[in-house]
Amino acid sequence: MRNPNRDIFGEVKEIVSVPSAAEYYGMSVRNGMTSCIFHEDRNPSMKLYDDHFYCFGCTEYGDVVKLTARLFGLTQYEAAKKLCSDFGVIHSRDKPIIRQKICVQSQREKEQRVFRILSDYCSLLRRFRTEYAPKSDSEALHPLFTESLTQLEMYEHFCDVFISGTTDERKDFMENCKEVIDYADRRNNDYNTDTRIAC
Ligand SMILES: [Zn+2]
Repeated sequence: MRNPNRDIFGEVKEIVSVPSAAEYYGMSVRNGMTSCIFHEDRNPSMKLYDDHFYCFGCTEYGDVVKLTARLFGLTQYEAAKKLCSDFGVIHSRDKPIIRQKICVQSQREKEQRVFRILSDYCSLLRRFRTEYAPKSDSEALHPLFTESLTQLEMYEHFCDVFISGTTDERKDFMENCKEVIDYADRRNNDYNTDTRIAC
């Protein structure tokens, strides 16, 4: 399971460097050195690195969250939240956006797949319409010609949903018309199998 506390620490540390937090919170920093806030320090003996601090006097070390917690007497979590708000770190905000993009992407791929099935089946039905058309009035109707008569108009309408329909209409169709999609898919496969055998 996701640990939101661990995420907030990771994000803050990635974005807020130790020196920028120290300066922002009014510590006097010279040549990367500042007075230690963990012991009585007359000469600056705390060295600030980008991702941590280290005191040559009392050997205390830690990250930007620990520094901020000490400065304001906060818990680590409170300090992380303070850093987020002071430095405009939008905690976990980008992650849902990325997830949403992936969802939109896969929805589009699903739509493309369904549209391909429907339009393939329409092409198949159009071929049935011409190839199996009766040559004379007395000839019995071929089942594939009949299939074309009963299905083509309906499936062309389904294709229109993907060509000129709204996102909601496409989504609605895909959720509620699984059977017609599966049927078209089966017929495409049947026909492809038939041609392969025939060849
Ligand atoms: Zn110290």
